[in-house]
Parts: sequence; structure tokens; C-alpha cells
Amino acid sequence: MTLTMAHSAEASRFRAQGPRQLDEIAKRYGLPAHLREDVRLLSHVLPFRVNDYVLDELVDWRRVPDDPMFRLVFPQRGMLPEVDERRLAALAGDGGAKLAMKAEVRRIRANLNPHPSGQKELNVPSLDGEQVPGMQHKYRETVLYFPGQGQSCHAYCTYCFRWAQFVGDADLRFAAPGPLRLVSYLRRHPEVTDVLVTGGDPMVMSTDRLRDHLNPVLGVDSVRTIRIGTKSLAYWPHRYVHDADADDVLRLFERVVATGRQLAVMAHFSHPRELETPVVREAMRRIRATGASIYCQAPLVAHVNDDAETWRRLWSVQHAAGAVPYYLFVERDTGPYDYFKVPLGAAVDIFQDAWRRLPGLARTVRGPVMSTTPGKVIVDGVTATPEGRFFQLRMLQARDPSLVARPFRASYRSDAAWLSDLELTADTPDDIRAAIGGYTRGRGIA
Ligand code: SF4
Repeated sequence: MTLTMAHSAEASRFRAQGPRQLDEIAKRYGLPAHLREDVRLLSHVLPFRVNDYVLDELVDWRRVPDDPMFRLVFPQRGMLPEVDERRLAALAGDGGAKLAMKAEVRRIRANLNPHPSGQKELNVPSLDGEQVPGMQHKYRETVLYFPGQGQSCHAYCTYCFRWAQFVGDADLRFAAPGPLRLVSYLRRHPEVTDVLVTGGDPMVMSTDRLRDHLNPVLGVDSVRTIRIGTKSLAYWPHRYVHDADADDVLRLFERVVATGRQLAVMAHFSHPRELETPVVREAMRRIRATGASIYCQAPLVAHVNDDAETWRRLWSVQHAAGAVPYYLFVERDTGPYDYFKVPLGAAVDIFQDAWRRLPGLARTVRGPVMSTTPGKVIVDGVTATPEGRFFQLRMLQARDPSLVARPFRASYRSDAAWLSDLELTADTPDDIRAAIGGYTRGRGIA
């Protein structure tokens, strides 16, 4: 890491780097040959992309391979099942096995649950009997919109829950060619007040493109909040400071705010280091000066941020920068899940330990939260009773709003890491059991 290296406007031209630049990256940063080859191997399956800012400012090369930022962006051994890694290695060593390699990569990806939480089957809305591409409508008041040109990111997270967006398979991808169908849908559904523009990362788009997607939505009066889901503040804060259209994007934000709407930048920060550079601080200051708010969220993941002190620092720094700590998510059951998952009991301990040490105004964050097929389930804690230990649970969001906010319980298991590992207690209300029970232990996949 060269935190002292100042990124001037000239030095900050965005250049995506991936498997093809691996030799160059290894040479430049002294990545040992065996680690370089591991990254090359795993990147056949897991999307790999970085940029100069991530490489220069965020990765601590003295601590590789254990550095959390290195683990966050470089695919590594252990992220896939051992048997799959062995088969990949055998095929990679056989120059004539290109087709077999392709088939193997497809097979491994298909086993990585590319669309968790029933996204493909349950959340895609219809208009006049036809599915609306590039949209999801799961909770009454919010739709997700995936603009076609925003379906990549400035760098890729190895734990990404949307990895299927990046692997070049049209069947696995959500993408809207433009906002017209979205706008028609919104006009027929005035109950939708929030549009979450997401990806990938919509902030990879130029300001002109982003404006083309947002402007028509601003013509729908019932939409009161625009949210933009992005990791650009962490991976490419120059987007708001030095990019050629950085000032334009801030003017666009001002315009959204001037319509009387709330503009919320839903910033994905995984580690406090992502908030330490002068340029990210400046980017946050500039965004807030437009009247937009910054809400921060990320999953708790092993090898990257699975300790309380990391989260305490993360939330404290966000709060000090005027942003709102919002969600600590449980890692979703997709991609290299077994490598990154943290048991729910440990997640509760980490959350509570960090939360207790925050000033009151920073205790805006909720967690640990599972974003599952039936809805968002928060684990409020673990209780010990004469009958045994239990997870205290509550729906924060549900397809059926009458389920929201009501407590229920599941038996404690030290290895439970997702809803599908939980067993609801006998006193669970019938409607909650009906909504959730099918996705709990022994009943299916959440
Ligand atoms: S920024 Fe989000 S969508 Fe992009 S790779 Fe990371 S987790 Fe996936």
C-alpha cells in the first residue's frame, strides 16, 4: 500500500485491470508467482477486476495474502470447493482442454447458486403479461432497477452476491436497455415510492447515461426517493472528484434533490481502510454538499471484516464523515459462500460488541440481517432459557407487510449461518411459519 502516493487528476484515469493484466500487476507489486497462478486459476470462475486506486491505495502488499483488501478483490485458493479447484488446476495444465475447461467452469458456476433468494423466479415483475427486463419488485414500496450499462463495477468483490452479472452469460444477467418500461410500471404502481438503481454499479456509467436513466423516473410523482447502490466511493472515489464528468454528476444529484426528492447514495464499504484516503473523504464531502445522503452497508465476511473492532472503526469513521451506518448483512448463500460465511451466533457477538462501543448517534445500523427469499430477517440476539438457547428473530422487510416487525425464534445452532440452517420453535405464529417455514432447516433453500 502506498497511501502517501497522491493521486493527481492525471494519475486518476480509470483503467480496469483483470486476468490479462495479472503478470503486470504481479511484477509491479511483487506478488509471488504461486499466488499469481492461484489468482489466474480461480479467476476462470470468479470475476476478477481491479484498478490502480485499489492496487495503490487500498491493498497493503506487505500483508499479502492475508491482507483483507487483497482477499476482497483477488480470487484465491480455498474460495471454491477443493475438488473443483483440483479439477480446474488439472484442466488449466492441459493446453488442449479449452472446451473441457469451459464446460467445467459452467458446471462449477451453476453449483454456486447464481441467483440467491429466488430473484429470477419470484421478483421479476410483469407488465401487460410480459416480464419487465432489468427490474425486481420484491417489497411493496421499492423496486430495483438494473440499467444495462451499469452492470459492471470499478473492481469486483470476491464475495459478490451479484457475481452472475459479470460472467458474460445473458441467462444469468439482469439488465434493462432503458427506463421506459420501468416508468410505465411505476405509473401503474403508485405504491412504489422508492427506486433503487443498482447493478453491478450504476456509477460506472457516464453522467450523461445516468441522467438518461434517471430523468424519466423524475417525471413520476409517486416516486419520492431515488437510491443508488454503489461501491464507487470505496473502489473509485475519483468518480466524484477528478473524473472528467465528476462535477456533472454532482449537478445531477443536486437536480434530483431540487425536485423535492430524497437522493440516497447506498455506499458499500467493507473495511475501514476504504474510508481512509483523502480522496474518498473529499468525494463524500462533495456528495453531501449536493443535499444527497450517504447510507452505508456491507456484509460481514470471514477473512475480510469478521471482528468487532473492524466494524466499530468502520461505523465510527462513516459517522464522522457525515454518513449513516445502515446495514450489517449476513453473507448470502451464493458464490464462494463457504469461504466467506460467518455463523449467525458469531455475527451477533461481533455486531453487539461493535455497536455497544459506538456513540449514540452512530447506532443507526441494523444487523445482522439476512436478505432471504421471504424477506429481510434480523437476528436480534441469542437468549439462554431453561429450555435451551434460541435465536431471537424479526422480519425487517417481507413480501407481506403484516409480517414486518414481529418477533419469532429458532433453536440455536453454533454452525447456523443462514435461514436454511434454522429450525423455528413450536410457538412460531402460523403466518410467519407459512412465510418462512419452507425456507428453514430441512424444508428447502432460502
Ligand atoms: S461492488 Fe457490489 S456488485 Fe460489484 S462486485 Fe462488489 S458486491 Fe458485487
